[in-house]
Amino acid sequence: MLGSWGRQLAALYDDMVAWRRHLHQYPELSFREVETPRFIAERLESFGVEVRTGVGGRGVVGIIEGGRPGRTVALRADFDALPIQDEKDVPYRSRVPGVMHACGHDAHTATLLGVARVLAGRREELCGRVVLIHQFAEEQAPGGAKPMIEDGCLDGVDAIFGTHLWTPMPVGRIGYCPGYAMAAADRFEIEIVGRGGHGASPHETVDPVLVACELVPKLQHIVGRMVDPLEPAVISVGSIHAGTAFNVIPATATITGTVRTLSPKVRDLVEARLEQVTRGVCTAYGARYRFRYERGYPALFNHEEETRFVAETIERFAGVEGVERIRPVMGGEDFAYYLERVPGCFFFTGAGNAEVNAVYPHHHPRFDIDERAMLVAGRALLAVTLRFLNGDEYMASLAQDGRAA
Ligand code: MN
Repeated sequence: MLGSWGRQLAALYDDMVAWRRHLHQYPELSFREVETPRFIAERLESFGVEVRTGVGGRGVVGIIEGGRPGRTVALRADFDALPIQDEKDVPYRSRVPGVMHACGHDAHTATLLGVARVLAGRREELCGRVVLIHQFAEEQAPGGAKPMIEDGCLDGVDAIFGTHLWTPMPVGRIGYCPGYAMAAADRFEIEIVGRGGHGASPHETVDPVLVACELVPKLQHIVGRMVDPLEPAVISVGSIHAGTAFNVIPATATITGTVRTLSPKVRDLVEARLEQVTRGVCTAYGARYRFRYERGYPALFNHEEETRFVAETIERFAGVEGVERIRPVMGGEDFAYYLERVPGCFFFTGAGNAEVNAVYPHHHPRFDIDERAMLVAGRALLAVTLRFLNGDEYMASLAQDGRAA
């Protein structure tokens, strides 16, 4: 397994829990992170890591230069929170009203800090370089990954790896998905422009409420009848707004929704068909429309070779209970942008456990994790980093180290 590397990480577990709980109590919203990047930079500097702050805006990048030449590997953890009121009854619950780490980014950060400390302490043994990417603003498009990449965080990087703690999966397990693993997450807004008037004289109006009611189910025909049934696609209307009085036909109605797709071809198709169906329905009833489609993060594509590398490395060296191939997740992630630039893999680390109340889905007001998942994620990232930089012979020597212990 990981030998003394794993033991050193395990010795940092209490620190990782303390860091995570501190961040959990003082969460910061996307694009408004101030204390969190400061906290991260201070820790990294205290480990002797070379630190760059303000990367792409609010990001923090740490560099660990190995003692011998070799490749460069990047590890990424995000650190923003969500506009959700924390309803957990635990001593470390959020102290900021209406803001909460409800997706585990606090734990991603604490995990990467633990891994960084272990790697920095033994940098002489490393062949190559480790780039630690602490990313701001994952939760809100356009996100922090893109500006950090533009600011050079991937310069010279040969591969990138990252993980998301995942409560739908039990703690101790790791899930991976080659190819498209997470969805492109887009939003649309359709304003139907009719002609308002008296509720008693509908024949003198163009009723946008009726048009909206016709349109919503027709949008589902795109998924049902126009998209290849073997290709995933989701259209969800999340809001409809029209009118203010019971006896007045309003002039406009506005529909907003989200589109989730995996393949870029299906993404293009859904965008085009959304407008086509809107045009058709509006034309039928003599209404006009304004159509806005905003592309969010692209679909996340895990590279085949690096994903195989991750699955095999974790299975052989990370000492986890189980590694399984999972199906794609229709959520979005701006880790997708890194994978558009360099090969790599984003995998899931189980964090669910009913015994510690880690049973709620991500973004739920009672979301929590089994903190031991940080150790699992840390061992996985450590194993991937060491094997990527130092190769198989080195890993074999660690296995003997482990037996001797
Ligand atoms: Mn997340």
